[in-house]
Amino acid sequence: MTVMHRRIRRRFHIQGVVQGVGFRPFVYGRAIEMGVTGYVVNDPRGVAIEAEGDEAAVARFEAALRADPPPLASITSFQTEDIDIADATTFEIRSSRSEGRVRVSIPPDLATCRACAAEVEDVRDRRHRYAFTNCTDCGPRFTIVAASPYDRVNTTMASFEMCRACAAEYSDQGSRRFHAQPIACPECGPRLRLLTAEGGAIEEEAVATEALEGAAELLIQGAIVAIKGLGGFHLACDATNANAVKRLRARKHREAKPLALMVADLAAARELAVITSQEEALLSSPRAPIVLSRRRPSTAVAEEVAPGNPYLGLMLPYTPLHHLLLAAVRRPLVMTSGNLVDEPVAFQDDDAYERLQQVADAFLIHDRPIRTRCDDSVVRAVGSQEYLIRRSRGYVPQPISVPTTFSRPVLATGPELKHTFCLGVEDLAVVSHHIGDLQNYAAMAAFTDGVAHLKRLFDIDEVDVVAYDLHPGYLATRWALSSEAPTKIGVQHHHAHIASCLADNNRSDRVIGLALDGTGMGDDGTLWGCEILVADLTGYERFAHLAPVSLPGGEAAIKEPWRMAAVYLEAGFGDGAYQLALEVVRETGSKWAPILKMARRGLNSPEATSAGRLFDAAAAVCGLRTRSSYEGQAAAELENVADPSSGLVYPFPFSDGRLDGVSLIRALAEDVAAGRSVPEAAAGFHNGLAAGLVETALGARAATGIEVVALSGGTWQNVFLLERVRSALRDRGFEVLLHRQVPCNDGGVSLGQAVVASAKLI
Ligand code: ZN
Ligand code: ZN
Ligand code: FE
Repeated sequence: MTVMHRRIRRRFHIQGVVQGVGFRPFVYGRAIEMGVTGYVVNDPRGVAIEAEGDEAAVARFEAALRADPPPLASITSFQTEDIDIADATTFEIRSSRSEGRVRVSIPPDLATCRACAAEVEDVRDRRHRYAFTNCTDCGPRFTIVAASPYDRVNTTMASFEMCRACAAEYSDQGSRRFHAQPIACPECGPRLRLLTAEGGAIEEEAVATEALEGAAELLIQGAIVAIKGLGGFHLACDATNANAVKRLRARKHREAKPLALMVADLAAARELAVITSQEEALLSSPRAPIVLSRRRPSTAVAEEVAPGNPYLGLMLPYTPLHHLLLAAVRRPLVMTSGNLVDEPVAFQDDDAYERLQQVADAFLIHDRPIRTRCDDSVVRAVGSQEYLIRRSRGYVPQPISVPTTFSRPVLATGPELKHTFCLGVEDLAVVSHHIGDLQNYAAMAAFTDGVAHLKRLFDIDEVDVVAYDLHPGYLATRWALSSEAPTKIGVQHHHAHIASCLADNNRSDRVIGLALDGTGMGDDGTLWGCEILVADLTGYERFAHLAPVSLPGGEAAIKEPWRMAAVYLEAGFGDGAYQLALEVVRETGSKWAPILKMARRGLNSPEATSAGRLFDAAAAVCGLRTRSSYEGQAAAELENVADPSSGLVYPFPFSDGRLDGVSLIRALAEDVAAGRSVPEAAAGFHNGLAAGLVETALGARAATGIEVVALSGGTWQNVFLLERVRSALRDRGFEVLLHRQVPCNDGGVSLGQAVVASAKLI
């Protein structure tokens, strides 16, 4: 038998995140390797390739494209078609085509690659010690892009004219910098400047390499330096200097929330924390998030960095500027967001001078503008899985493939806290960068600018449909209701959470949803927060919930967990509550009568089924905390103190569609008053909560036959609870869905709103 060598030409069209991630050089490399001819070109919808050659060679070429795309590429569609041969003799990279509708994704910002880091260290390289070195595999993307397509003229690099050497690399198909839009060098690119701020006067101290050395010297001496990074300003100080960290906290008005650290490399990370292999992969990924890792006892890091917290938030350098700075200071740096408490991060120079002058002793800045603010992302590892706490730099705006098709463009306007919004178009959902708490003008402006910007980047002229949270007081809701979109769809908060978890797993079936969080507006006008829903994308039934209690003082109940302890203990013990041998009674009992009276009369005391407030009550009963400086603080401390080896389980009975939180707190209080250790008692609370939720899920399965459970809502950041509930459900034969690409907290709500709105349109 003879083997036929047939010459063919095949056209490929690949969509997804395929521009700005080194895709064309990758295609070029494979084409040369496999001996095919033709070309590759970016077009408005992705990458188009025509490959010609021996049938087997073309097949090998195709297999290589499918099997091993560049690390940050994400392919959502891969189409092929055989066409007439054209007798091409070479393979070439052609310049971009710009006709047609733009539906291409702008890539996220990528951490400095190894090749660039090596050049920065190499004394013979022309980019030696150059803080803005980048290539097609790394560098700024989303934060500098102003319009689509992703070409230099549409970025904040447009005003920098390439020098001859850079221009040569940019147009050399064999170069790592072929069509690297932010390409730069010390000759032609952005420059560093060091400014000192004293008594309201800003003075220039040094430029370029000397600016960097000056900043390092100031940090070593204990100064606070505001550093302009990729997506905004950081406030940095020496993490081993307790006084510097204390001063930073005091000036930033940040009492207790842990501060993120940047360390030089994995070895330095290992000195501070126990790094699992999963955490190592997350730390060194091109997305370079902050990774929460279990800290080692007695390290060089000042206690003030994360007081009483068993975790440290660590990240590795993700720009050459960071690499150079960390190498110069040779110690971990606090790198916290450049803002005062409750404000958005500064990202424009003038705004930074104005707002951060009272915090920073000096500014290390540069002249490459940041188009879009993008905070550091925060993740942790749950088993072998990445679990996001905050999804922003490095992840945004990578689209998420969802289980529905948006028949019309949808804008989901998101919740109030940890705000993101989401654009749904065709089969993609684009969840925005982290906007923060939508409670002030600056955040609102970031939201409306973000909407306009992402609409432009994804070529959406008009959104026909807006989805919004049912809470009438949320600024995003008011904005949605006053918009001119012809269709407005309200989505219940906890339904949005569960739908978000479904979409995140690319699922659309009916599930048992355990939605646990602080609070969200229910469809009956009361506040919900511990909801067992039977839900799919189109709708839900409220199968069960925590028995409601009142939140005395409303918002004040969030700041003062003792108020929730008072409500629960009075419900559990009546006047006997005042006799309990508990620290919270001794400390705050004298303040209970007026607030309980207020609660009984229903004055400023909304009824709520909040899981978050149940945790607050438990933490206060355990004597951990009577006041919180940020939401979720008490709950996090209760989780951190809980003894994982304890088998203690307090009762959390389920009947008539209600979970009885009063019984749970009563058992906890009796046990603590009788001298039970706090770590065991905290475990008993968690285990009881888990057992009650699992029992409720069993009840829902018996009633509906559904065997899939979705876990969503901010309470599921509690990994102690998450792991117990997940394994108990699995033991009973359930399939358990966790979030994978968006956070379980309110940062993921906009995705859920978008897919619910889309499902309701059909
Ligand atoms: Zn690079
Ligand atoms: Zn140059
Ligand atoms: Fe929520």
